Amino acid sequence: MNPKLLTKLQQISEQNLVDIEAHKEAGNHVVGFYCLYAPTELAVAADAIVLSLCGTRQDPIEAAEEVLPRNLCPLIKSSYGFAITDTCPFFRFSDLIVADTTCDGKKKMFEIMSEIKTVHVLQLPQNQDIATSLGPWKDEIKKLKSVLEEITGRQITPEKIKQAIRLQNRVRKTRKRLMDVAKAKPSPLTGMDLVEILFKTNFFADAEKGIEFMDEIIDECQGIDQGKSPYTLKTPRILLTGVPIGLGSDKVVKIIEQAGANVVGFENCSGYKRTFQVDETIDPIQALAEQYLSIPCSVMSPNPGRTDLLDEMIREFYVDGVVDLTWQACHTYNIEATSIQKYVQDRFGLPYLHLETDYSESDTEQLRVRIEAFIEMI
Ligand code: SF4
Ligand code: SF4
Repeated sequence: MNPKLLTKLQQISEQNLVDIEAHKEAGNHVVGFYCLYAPTELAVAADAIVLSLCGTRQDPIEAAEEVLPRNLCPLIKSSYGFAITDTCPFFRFSDLIVADTTCDGKKKMFEIMSEIKTVHVLQLPQNQDIATSLGPWKDEIKKLKSVLEEITGRQITPEKIKQAIRLQNRVRKTRKRLMDVAKAKPSPLTGMDLVEILFKTNFFADAEKGIEFMDEIIDECQGIDQGKSPYTLKTPRILLTGVPIGLGSDKVVKIIEQAGANVVGFENCSGYKRTFQVDETIDPIQALAEQYLSIPCSVMSPNPGRTDLLDEMIREFYVDGVVDLTWQACHTYNIEATSIQKYVQDRFGLPYLHLETDYSESDTEQLRVRIEAFIEMI
């Protein structure tokens, strides 16, 4: 990525903390979200800044393990560790935490997190069957609206929700356009560039600043032809599927790219799963309920949307191999790996590699050996 744009990203990220403080001092609110299922639009409609809080760093895990079992997903331990050590400014800024009953570890962790801060947990249905799940899920969304109105003191009208849907749709559309830049052969961006941009813009207090910055990167990439790309036409193109990643939990992306390949697609909730569009033409609560319930995460049983998305991405990103990442002790992604392997190999005849790891560096060399052998095979 152009060093000037990298510097600009750093500057906006630093200014961002000042912007959030100013927003709070002006009597507004900050709402932290722990998963993709709860509609951020409702908080935006209450003039709140929304922040995605899932922990991506190893540092706070040791403190978390004094309370939580060691044999737990690192994302859950990192999230809780940040909360008890008070080392995440975004958690500190949050007036309310919004979470959902996704996997067992996360929902039980939220029970103890509520001893530190106000946590509102949405009861997420376990499947996407419209007849049985949509009604209860819609009720949960209405409850969240009431909680947000009470905490912020703002009335969330249908018109304000519609405005928020339009804004969040623009953010998600821009994220998709940015990720789609990597469809070019060869890609003008590294996978690590994409991880950094997607991660940092996620925390921007001002959504318009994020859209503007991502647009600048997209424009810049249009001027990068084959000769200036960090890759060649022969560089193996990898699709990463599975658990979410971010800065600090990106070691697999780094190792894949150090081994000479390029991660062109991210089929996870920090990547392409966060690019959906909410219907702007129907009742806004209905539209939010329908769209968010359809997110294809492995906590849903069954989860057919994941293979649909994989199908689309493997074709459109000209993928040469699929790496399926599971965080240690994540049962839902671990078990789905068997059917994902079968799908990728039988339908596309592509090489597939399943990796199970955590946020630490303890297995870096073992991962490197397996990843290098995989890339070599491609
Ligand atoms: S992987 Fe699923 S449960 Fe975990 S944060 Fe993403 S959407 Fe939520
Ligand atoms: S990665 Fe798996 S175990 Fe970890 S929070 Fe997400 S669904 Fe739960």
